[in-house]
Amino acid sequence: MKRRTLLIVDDSPAIRKLIRETITTDNLFSHIVEASNGMEALKVFFNSKIDFVITDVVMPKVDGYKFISTIKDSEIGKDVPVVMLSASRKEVIDKIKGLNIGASDYVIKPFDSHELVARVKVFIKLQELQEELKEKNILLEKQAITDELTGLYNRRHFYEHLKMQLSLAKRHGFQIACLLIDIDHFKDINDTYGHDVGDKALKAIAKVMQDRLREGEVLARFGGEEFIIYLNRADVEGAISAGERMRKAIASANFSDDVKNPLTVTISIGVAMYPHEGLKDSDDIIKAADEALYYAKKTGRNKVVLYSESMEVVIHNDINNCVYRASEQSRPRRDPPKVDEE
Ligand code: GH3
Ligand code: MG
Ligand code: MG
Repeated sequence: MKRRTLLIVDDSPAIRKLIRETITTDNLFSHIVEASNGMEALKVFFNSKIDFVITDVVMPKVDGYKFISTIKDSEIGKDVPVVMLSASRKEVIDKIKGLNIGASDYVIKPFDSHELVARVKVFIKLQELQEELKEKNILLEKQAITDELTGLYNRRHFYEHLKMQLSLAKRHGFQIACLLIDIDHFKDINDTYGHDVGDKALKAIAKVMQDRLREGEVLARFGGEEFIIYLNRADVEGAISAGERMRKAIASANFSDDVKNPLTVTISIGVAMYPHEGLKDSDDIIKAADEALYYAKKTGRNKVVLYSESMEVVIHNDINNCVYRASEQSRPRRDPPKVDEE
């Protein structure tokens, strides 16, 4: 049984006892709490997690209507089912008033125990269905932004994130960077060990990079054996060192379960910064990173290359893997990636 707490509100101890006994026999609630008037009921309601309310209407201090309308106006009470108990026929108008203020249903006193249980059950069922729907929606929302194989964000989500951050960067004048990452000779892994091993390696590579992310960095699977990282408020040195951090982590990892036969891979990374001459939107940034990546592939792989529209190669890092380049030296090896491929 799901943990569910019922609040019974009635000024008559005898009626509270009767309701408790009626409800208990059907095992609908894990906990039952009581209050003898609306004031007390409000205190109980807002100090504990109540899933269901059965309340009398006519009570001293704060009456049932005031109690119901107060909880229905609150964020935590607006979806909690409330069954009203009314004493006589003349309360029919009151009942209607009660339903208008958000009670789910009403039962006339003296009540038939089967009727009360049946009505409560209807609303528990409804509540369960709503909870199920909420959980499914949360799952769907998560699935919509997640890559199934690696569990990373997917390309669509990355684009959304990049677009949003780009508009913030434009407005507030800070720098951002994109690192487009492609596994070197990944086809060879599939060809040598099979597609399943390839899949496992992709997952493991994703995990190694995810574990090395720092604050403000967002990693996604861009498609196939390509990944992409967004860097918030990055400068050139920061972006290159983030790329080097990933490159070294992958190059030094072993992706085989078999210690005797280690499986190593390398990655090539193209880096594009914004703002940068000639880059206006997120497609331009990714295209620029792709050009830099192409250059990394062409000049030997396992390296980080920074896109530069205007400069020739001017900088080499400690291990000679990181260069500025002029875009005229090479052209993109393919059309710019499209978002709606997913
Ligand atoms: P390069 O260094 O030039 O990038 O060489 P490469 O072999 O990595 O590049 P290529 O584009 O020729 O091949 C990419 C390979 O990645 C081919 C494709 O089967 C494989 N691949 C893409 N997605 C997946 C996947 O989800 N699972 C597996 N196992 N392989 C994949
Ligand atoms: Mg590729
Ligand atoms: Mg590749």
